[in-house]
Amino acid sequence: MNLLEYVAKEILAREGVPVPQFGVASSPDEAFDVAVKLNKTPLVVKAQIAAGGRGKGRFADGYEGGVKICKTTEEVREVAAKMLGGILVTAQTGPVGQPVRKVIVTESVNIVEEIYLSLTYSYSEAAIWVMGSRLGGVEIERIALENPQAFVKKTFLLDQPLWDFQLREFGAQLGFKSKSLVDFSKILKSLLQAFIKHDATLCEINPLAIDRENRFWALDAKISIDDNSLFRHDGLSTYRFETVYDSQELEALSHGVNYVGLDGQIGCLVNGAGLAMATMDILDRFGGRPANFLDVGGGADQNQVEKAFRVLLSHPNLKVILINIFGGIMRCDLIAEAIVEATKKQPLHVPLVIRLEGTRVKEGKEILEKSSLQYVFAEDLEEAAKKAVNLVEK
Ligand code: ADP
Ligand code: MG
Repeated sequence: MNLLEYVAKEILAREGVPVPQFGVASSPDEAFDVAVKLNKTPLVVKAQIAAGGRGKGRFADGYEGGVKICKTTEEVREVAAKMLGGILVTAQTGPVGQPVRKVIVTESVNIVEEIYLSLTYSYSEAAIWVMGSRLGGVEIERIALENPQAFVKKTFLLDQPLWDFQLREFGAQLGFKSKSLVDFSKILKSLLQAFIKHDATLCEINPLAIDRENRFWALDAKISIDDNSLFRHDGLSTYRFETVYDSQELEALSHGVNYVGLDGQIGCLVNGAGLAMATMDILDRFGGRPANFLDVGGGADQNQVEKAFRVLLSHPNLKVILINIFGGIMRCDLIAEAIVEATKKQPLHVPLVIRLEGTRVKEGKEILEKSSLQYVFAEDLEEAAKKAVNLVEK
């Protein structure tokens, strides 16, 4: 799960990273109130979306820039009015862009230099991979391509203590000296601690600015949290819906269904993530395109199957539904019953292909046959994929 900048900044500020004062607003009037409270100009208004490249982004209506400097509080209100409710398209959002529901209003920093600093996992080394560059800012992607030697890299092992000398070594490699080196090392330590404490998979500050008084400021912040750890981060779960923009994904999330929306026409309902991926692969092999990834899990019941159907059926491109169940822990008779009951409540407007295999498959088939459900049966996955693709073409 990706956190919006304002949540990431709240986390970083709590960990002791210097963050310029800011407030969050959902309406132009709220933005104005924040500006008045900050009592300082100029101020910066920043669109909150779960993607970078906002500074160089453009709104769907042509308005330029998701990061704007404002000279007056009145201008803050005007800029917020332009951004809120708009769709911001950046190099990272893809052409559809992302809707702006919140902005932050923050102090403007007199930037002398912009540093890039990021933490991610190195899975092969079971360590945190830290990357830094003195050439941070909005051109960082181009610099990474053209000038990779401008980056300093170092891994920090998770099961070892964090020694100050290691932090200073990294700062020194970036060319910091005396007080700047001490300040930078402290920030890096806070980031490493925040990363571990919040089960992050990414923590990026770009830019970490240096102002005229040689002070560091985190002007931007991006944090991704490992979804599997959310059970122990109660406070963060509330932000889960903020960065899901696909309406089917949002519905799936609210029903606890493991769903990723795609742009094909064959809706897939599968048990098990591995089987779901194999199903997508084999569809692709026969020239079909999945409309989604959907894993109902090992112990799906009628309620979950019903919810899964609801999400599938709302996909705008849907032409066929393919159910591929391999009953291991899951019993085929229970899933067959769930399909029959769920489709009674949610009438299907597209053909349905079913492949059932495994525990109590005979009983499952009987339930399907006795029901009034219209479906095409397939004995194996290959046959199921071919039939689904044929139905799309018909
Ligand atoms: P993005 O990475 O999405 O483009 P940033 O928050 O990094 O958004 O902002 C883009 C650029 O805007 C920064 O590189 C910085 O130059 C400038 N900027 C951002 N926040 C501030 C601020 N509070 N004060 C001054 N300049 C800022
Ligand atoms: Mg940035």
